[in-house]
Amino acid sequence: MTPEIIDLLFPNPLPTVEEIEAKYPARQLPEGAVVSRLAPSPTGYLHIGNFYQGFLAERLAHQTGGVFFIRVEDTDQKRRVDGAVQVVLRALAHYNVLPDEGPQLDGTDKGAYGPYTQSFRKEIYQAYAKEVVKRGLAYPCFCSAEELDLMRKVQEKQGLRTGYYGKYAKCRNLTDEEILANLRAGKPWILRFKSDGDYDKRIVFEDLLKGKLSLPENNIDHVLIKGDGLPTYHFAHVVDDHLMKTTHVVRGEDWVPSVPLHLQLFALMGWQPPKYAHHALLQKLDNGKRRKISKRYDPEANIEYFAEHGYPQDAVLEYLLNLMNASFEDWRKANPTIPVMDFPLNFNKISNTAGALFDFVKLHSICREVVARMTAEEVYNKTLAWAEKANEKLATLMKTNREKCIAILNIERNIGNKSRKDLTKWEDVENEISYFFEKPSVDAENLKPLSLDEVHQMAAEYAKMYSATDDKDTWFGKIKQLAVKFGFADNMKEYKANPSNYKGSVADVARILRVLITGRTQSPDLFAIMQVMGKGEVQKRLEG
Ligand code: GLU
Repeated sequence: MTPEIIDLLFPNPLPTVEEIEAKYPARQLPEGAVVSRLAPSPTGYLHIGNFYQGFLAERLAHQTGGVFFIRVEDTDQKRRVDGAVQVVLRALAHYNVLPDEGPQLDGTDKGAYGPYTQSFRKEIYQAYAKEVVKRGLAYPCFCSAEELDLMRKVQEKQGLRTGYYGKYAKCRNLTDEEILANLRAGKPWILRFKSDGDYDKRIVFEDLLKGKLSLPENNIDHVLIKGDGLPTYHFAHVVDDHLMKTTHVVRGEDWVPSVPLHLQLFALMGWQPPKYAHHALLQKLDNGKRRKISKRYDPEANIEYFAEHGYPQDAVLEYLLNLMNASFEDWRKANPTIPVMDFPLNFNKISNTAGALFDFVKLHSICREVVARMTAEEVYNKTLAWAEKANEKLATLMKTNREKCIAILNIERNIGNKSRKDLTKWEDVENEISYFFEKPSVDAENLKPLSLDEVHQMAAEYAKMYSATDDKDTWFGKIKQLAVKFGFADNMKEYKANPSNYKGSVADVARILRVLITGRTQSPDLFAIMQVMGKGEVQKRLEG
């Protein structure tokens, strides 16, 4: 390509590649340290699969004393959404998955390997693209969208692989004169690289998660620079991960088919490629069939869903680690009190056969375990932090009744195996504390076999007997006395032996009292509830 053509393709002054390389020196890191990244496209939300990817990359980097950074891939300017970078950063911060480098909430960059937003790196890509053109390995393509569309249709009709290759790569063979004439005429162009791949040959590479993979070489003249002067994902990935010294590219397995192209581009540039780790995409069971979690059908595709509903952060992380490494569960059992971030995630054990199945039942069971391990004060603080954003009424109630709320949350907590496991997420807390503050409505169905009159009599009797200083045995002894007085058996065995002699057993009496006091047939330990509620309130409910 003549200097004149090169000047027409790249009219603006550009830094030299040597100048650029000098700004990106080798990183000084310990042996074996992983440098990895999350490279979101700022489209307005963070898909749970991207979060999963970022968390995996972050763990591998930080476990090895390496670096985890964020790079914003906004080369598709049409899809760019304002504020989307903040959405990503906030989501990561919410889970304490913290990048060492990258864009910050205030719009500045942190780190010496930036800028970390691709649209600010236009000159860098252009400088490298210019080099490739100078070497005669890239060329401007003047085909219009309509021409390309027609070409694809012809290929499809003939049952051929679609793409710009072989005889379809029309602009590959334009003469310098033709190129010059087109450029002078102001014809729009994009830059393609001249692939030397042979589709009938195979390229074999080692994926850290998938093992040895063999794919056909790439023979398509892919686009390096688009009509707006910005690079395609492929070219930007190669340039950026080279300059930013990424050692490991962790990304979804939907990128596997692009690896031959990426390795080819690294070779074209004379650079060492990173190691690739392609993880399985998160899937869901839908009517017994697996499918990708999709933004369209699944609200949980958006990582914000979990914060909105008050899922404990650690539980979400534990769940994802559990999806990554089947050994997580055993580790957790053996180490119930160690922080989740201390789990030694092992690359070799990352599950990657079929897609990882996202399952709410399992997530919820992990949530209950995680919440059960917390102190009442922790549950209080985390619920309040959630409520301040999501449930103003609850936040006010909790702030004005701090001690009482902690006492409520402390019922049956941290008592080993018998600890309460009824809380899944902060959203559920309201239901567990509200009845302490508001007299609940009582469903007469739940008071059977007694009539309302009988219930009132029995409750009034019990109100007189109840003393807040009784210990649990004395308390239960009084309920037994009450049972006998009102025609119930004072133990289950006796009732079962002679059911026709009784209205029911002491368990029914306890249920009726529970319903009067809490409004529900199931609750944590009634004795403890009454203690926390206080005698005055208990009596009001019994007498009301
Ligand atoms: N921007 C790409 C995506 O969001 C990043 C893929 C990669 O990690 O290289 O899928």
